[in-house]
Amino acid sequence: MDLTTFGSGAQYIAGRLTEGTGTEPFQVVNPADGSVVQEVRLAATADVDSAVAAAKAALPEWSGVTPGARSEALLRLAGILADHAEEFARVETAQTGKPIKLSTEFDVPGTVDNTSFFAGAARNLEGKAAGEWSGDHTSYVRREAIGVVGSISPWNYPLQMAAWKILPAIAAGNTIVLKPAELTPLTSLMFARACTEAGIPDGVVNVVTGAGRSAGEHLVSHPDVAMVSFTGSTPVGKRVAELATATVKRTHLELGGKAPFVVFDDADLDAAVHGAVAASLINSGQDCTAATRAYVQRPLYEAFVAGVAELYAAIRLGDPMNPQTDLGPLVSYTHRDRVAGFVERARGYGATIVTGGQAPAKGHDGTDLSLGAYYRPTLITGVAQDSEVVQGEIFGPVLVALPFDSDDEGLRLANDTPYGLAASAWTRDIHRSLRATREIAAGCVWVNDHIPIISEMPHGGYKSSGYGKDMSQYSLDEYTQVKHVMFDTTAVARKDWHRTIFGDR
Ligand code: NAD
Repeated sequence: MDLTTFGSGAQYIAGRLTEGTGTEPFQVVNPADGSVVQEVRLAATADVDSAVAAAKAALPEWSGVTPGARSEALLRLAGILADHAEEFARVETAQTGKPIKLSTEFDVPGTVDNTSFFAGAARNLEGKAAGEWSGDHTSYVRREAIGVVGSISPWNYPLQMAAWKILPAIAAGNTIVLKPAELTPLTSLMFARACTEAGIPDGVVNVVTGAGRSAGEHLVSHPDVAMVSFTGSTPVGKRVAELATATVKRTHLELGGKAPFVVFDDADLDAAVHGAVAASLINSGQDCTAATRAYVQRPLYEAFVAGVAELYAAIRLGDPMNPQTDLGPLVSYTHRDRVAGFVERARGYGATIVTGGQAPAKGHDGTDLSLGAYYRPTLITGVAQDSEVVQGEIFGPVLVALPFDSDDEGLRLANDTPYGLAASAWTRDIHRSLRATREIAAGCVWVNDHIPIISEMPHGGYKSSGYGKDMSQYSLDEYTQVKHVMFDTTAVARKDWHRTIFGDR
């Protein structure tokens, strides 16, 4: 089966790849050199309507099959994804610019593992035990699918984000219309085709590739969409929540991040330096959990800055298809310029750019990088806590390092942004680590590491990073609704409680 030939079809509706009816042609561009990966036609609102109609039509059958049947389909899907791992990695790298070693060793195997996980999770919906809680009734709960889910995903991990949205939704018996970011729709379309190949009925998984303002807003507002699950930036998340509220839809929002990386003075410095470089540069820093603010206790501060700067300078930028390349371009030229803008403004308000702060000319492999959306790993110091580079989500290979003195101060600074998605604490002291994990307000706190995720554990935000959980059994709570069913067990016509409404005992 060929998953990678698209023609100009970028809509996957009712099990078929079709052209969007939007009039403007749209190019999916490889940000490493500006070449066109695929020209497509975007969805108009009529395509969103068709996709929602397909999802609605598929709902009764899919929500009615046994969890075991859904599980088997997901297991077949995991096998198909694994068989096509190389194509998924190649297309993911072409449309995003991420290094092939990241696509190959993280994005694709993570997606396969997630698919196997949800095959198991589909059979494990939990709830309170049935029982005679009132004495006069038997009560139990049913955990039911919500209906047609409208999902919107970002461009940073297109395949994984599609999987994180689609898998729990369909494992729980919902059907779905996913709108991927228009910059990077290709692996979401491949994933949907693989679903069909796995025997998942037509209409259960639909993908519409369109612009946020038109197709996205239409999907979120659609009366036949029962739930909206969104991953993207906080400002767009607020807009999505606003639109969804108008039709009382359940919302699940995975939004921006600005993760702190707190290094206490007893930390293993070498581990912290290597950890900070990996955690800040993963996916060129276009990762909602990436380390962005390193707070380092004064005794280790200078050595930490010197260590990170040295490793940053040795990072191999180059052609993302080269397996030795550490860092590819950012996702687009516009986004590269946005990242550079943060750094230029920081220079303007007196920041020290320890290393980086510019686009590179040549790659480690001799590639001419001037054609791509590249940006050097950039380390910034000497800025105030309330400055834009400390508070704003840059979403690029940029780390700010600041010193702190007391543990109280370090933890206070870690919590001092509107975001709360992820954080890490670096220490060998059990009491410090316990305190940090308790006091840092974030959906995930790592100790002596930063970035690893696993299918069994939840991912989601606190504060302006949103609410709801992706991955893990917790995500099935998001995509199911709980119904209380209550049976009278007395067979008494005139029930005692009626006297509270009429008559006496
Ligand atoms: P974005 O908010 O610009 O776009 C996300 C998606 O929303 C895209 O599909 C886009 O087309 C769509 N969209 C845009 N405007 C819309 C509107 N008015 N109505 C409906 N949909 C609309 O985000 P991005 O730039 O694609 O991705 C980067 C952001 O995603 C960062 O803020 C990052 O932190 C966040 N993110 C969060 C998580 C998480 O799990 N919390 C994971 C990955 C990315």
